[in-house]
Amino acid sequence: MDDSLSAKSFFKGARKAAHKALHDHGRPEYDEFALHAGLAVEKLAKAVLVSKNPAYIAEPRNEDMLLHFGGHLSVDEDKVRTVGAKDAIARLRRIGVLRADSQLDLLIALRNGAAHAAPNSTLVKGMISPLARTIEALLNDLGKALDEFWGRWTKAVRDAVNEQEDQVFRDVQLRITQARHAFEDRFKYLPPGSKELVLTEQQLLSYPWMSFVENDADGIPFYSTSGDDCPSCGGPGTLTFAPTEVTATDTHYRAHCFACSLCSFEVVGPDEMAALRKANTPPTINSLVVSHSQTLPPVEVAVLKAKTV
Ligand SMILES: [Zn+2]
Repeated sequence: MDDSLSAKSFFKGARKAAHKALHDHGRPEYDEFALHAGLAVEKLAKAVLVSKNPAYIAEPRNEDMLLHFGGHLSVDEDKVRTVGAKDAIARLRRIGVLRADSQLDLLIALRNGAAHAAPNSTLVKGMISPLARTIEALLNDLGKALDEFWGRWTKAVRDAVNEQEDQVFRDVQLRITQARHAFEDRFKYLPPGSKELVLTEQQLLSYPWMSFVENDADGIPFYSTSGDDCPSCGGPGTLTFAPTEVTATDTHYRAHCFACSLCSFEVVGPDEMAALRKANTPPTINSLVVSHSQTLPPVEVAVLKAKTV
């Protein structure tokens, strides 16, 4: 039989598509993600089917294909038709390799263009879980380890599969890894040591700073400060603080956003900031209190308290 229809070849194709899918998810390009994720599932499903019996990848309701893959009828290469994603999954459910999974069905529908999702939709964003758990079930059946398939994505995928963890935490963990890989890939064709050189220069140029960003509707400024090292690339990050309470003497601020201009990693809002603190130690500054007193020196030294909890 054609070498491209071997379990080994399907496995390699699935791995390549799955890695592309995770990269797309990080950019974020959710249409591309659905395309590559669906392709990864389809190819790995075929690897499992063909490993059991070559006839199992024959196109449904096609007698010639059944006989061809059974090894008793020769068909021209360009006339060979194999099972599609939906039917391959149905066959694997029939023999107990995969379970019913409406999220996986939706992912395949998105990939086939049968369903459409708006860009940035939370629906597609969450599709990393059905992709990861389906791949894991198929790998288990093939007797292959997760890291043989996922390589440098293994930890991120393992976290995504852990349904017990809270969704925001898993999302932030995944984005840290995605930004790190995108950053590393920028140095792929540059001389060795380039990445370290850029990071060292950034660290040398960085110094503790603080400035107000903009007034909110009540005329209270937001503050931006130098943050700690970026969890994705190690570059210097920026923290932005939003006001939470104004008293007669001072204004209280809470960290609202962490951003890295080097690798573009960013978290916004209290939930994501909490998830970042959980994922990243040591903790960054979490709150500030700024005095209103006119007798105090400028704001840079008027910060009364900066807390990390
Ligand atoms: Zn970074």
